[in-house]
Amino acid sequence: MTQSVPVTEGVKPSGPAGSSTAFVTLVTNADYAMGATALARSIRLTGTGADIVVLHTGGVEADRLVPLAELGCRLVATDLLPLSDAFNERHARKNVHSTAPFTKGRKPDFHSPLDNFCKLRLWQLTDYGRCIFIDADALVLKNIDRYFDYPEFSAAPNVYESLADLHRLNSGVFVATPSLQTFGAMLERLDMPDAFWPRTDQTFLQNFFPEWHGLPVTMNMLQYVWFNMPALWDWASIGVLHYQYEKPWEKDHPKEEKLRPLIDLWHAFLTGENIPEIANLPNPSLPT
Ligand code: UDP
Ligand code: MN
Repeated sequence: MTQSVPVTEGVKPSGPAGSSTAFVTLVTNADYAMGATALARSIRLTGTGADIVVLHTGGVEADRLVPLAELGCRLVATDLLPLSDAFNERHARKNVHSTAPFTKGRKPDFHSPLDNFCKLRLWQLTDYGRCIFIDADALVLKNIDRYFDYPEFSAAPNVYESLADLHRLNSGVFVATPSLQTFGAMLERLDMPDAFWPRTDQTFLQNFFPEWHGLPVTMNMLQYVWFNMPALWDWASIGVLHYQYEKPWEKDHPKEEKLRPLIDLWHAFLTGENIPEIANLPNPSLPT
């Protein structure tokens, strides 16, 4: 295969791998570093033996990484992808938001769509045989190590409103096999002339892996399910809780009242104080 871009550059680990499997997340600014701290603590509490890898870009100051190092994360300094100027311009925040507006929920001001594509650097982590990527705005609520045995590419459907959601995957959680060959092929596909990926890495990954394998919805339970589809909610079965759209740490949070129990839970994991027994939490009340 011809390679027009280097596939071995752009990731610098702080130390050696400690396992053949890893949970991987991405942080490109202080807000998501805070998100990753709650996530890393939640993963530790599952008793997993897998590494926790944090891909971090230059947008995160060193002091924001300290809590992650204290939680035993393997920090991997990560460059933005080597993409063309035209690609970067098409995917700048203002252009993504005007060309493909978000109508179902709000993206926080600190969210930069271009940064999402750094997720693809997971495929460069060839120290690992299998990785589970998890967005930094998520919590792991029980041991999910069995999903390391799932095939590439596994992801859960983007369910938060209706049955039509089942057609699309949500790229906040996925199972993948690092490979420089796959990474190179992705870079070539990603930056084809005029390529526009309206939901960034999510649209791209669905296109790159059209025959994606399904994870159960409980492996990526989206916060809007709490009020849109309460019958689907079952605390005891949730592996990953994902705060898509508004983030639990936002000060001006338009859905704060509706999502109060979920926001409180996230703060417990951030601080490590008063983390409840998950299976004992009350499920949302159903319409009568
Ligand atoms: N991300 C980041 N900085 C950004 C945007 C995204 O670090 O400015 C990372 C982070 O891991 C985040 C993921 O990319 O969880 C996907 O973005 P987000 O979770 O905001 O998208 P949503 O789940 O709301 O669609
Ligand atoms: Mn997310």
